[in-house]
Amino acid sequence: MKIVMLGAPGAGKGTQAKMIADKYSIPHISTGDIFRANIKEGTALGLEAKSYMDQGKLVPDELTVKILLDRVAKDDCANGYVLDGFPRTIPQAEVLKDALAKLNDKIDYAVNVDVPDENIVKRMSGRRACVTCGATYHIEHVPPKTEGVCDRCGAALILRDDDKPETVLNRLKIYHDQTQPLIDFYTNEGILKTVDGTVDVKVVFENIISILG
Ligand code: ADP
Ligand code: AMP
Repeated sequence: MKIVMLGAPGAGKGTQAKMIADKYSIPHISTGDIFRANIKEGTALGLEAKSYMDQGKLVPDELTVKILLDRVAKDDCANGYVLDGFPRTIPQAEVLKDALAKLNDKIDYAVNVDVPDENIVKRMSGRRACVTCGATYHIEHVPPKTEGVCDRCGAALILRDDDKPETVLNRLKIYHDQTQPLIDFYTNEGILKTVDGTVDVKVVFENIISILG
């Protein structure tokens, strides 16, 4: 099963994608996580991506598409995957569609996690991310067992630089300009499924499962 997660930054794509990946035993692929891992390792790619990410801008399509196509060509993707944060532009969606079509393949579902802008800034300022394993928490809604410490690996939790309110507003604007058109794109493909992302994490997941089967 090949799934694309859509939704504003902070809608809960990553939270749900990780749960979907566990349930269906498929890899969770987040382009944001790949960029952050490169930033942490100090690679040339990381350095370039950081200059865009810190301003809340999108990393250019050429760079992002190459990384994603390399990743989905790996063996662990043979039975499918859940993409989180890709595609974020129509050209990215078209490249992905064409690459899959060459293999006689396609995306099965685009799951749109719907959360209004009013909720997003609050969500993002409460998000805490693990610097080591990428797990995400929320100080109110999804708290770790011990404040500031990752349940999964014990490393420190941080507020991402790009989750500060001024950057979040930029990211939301870019979302509406460049990413939201993907809702029409996948509606036209006949595979868009929208779920209410404002309810409890477990309820969102149950609703997604009832769609995916
Ligand atoms: P995205 O991957 O779309 O940017 P995340 O999955 O990281 O979003 O979620 C953003 C923040 O909101 C995190 O702090 C997460 O713990 C929290 N969150 C996710 N889903 C919900 C939900 N249904 N209700 C409340 N908070 C949520
Ligand atoms: P995320 O972890 O999905 O919130 O992504 C964090 C940041 O990484 C985004 O704000 C972008 O700067 C960059 N990024 C992640 N995925 C993409 C993508 N598909 N296209 C362009 N930029 C991306």
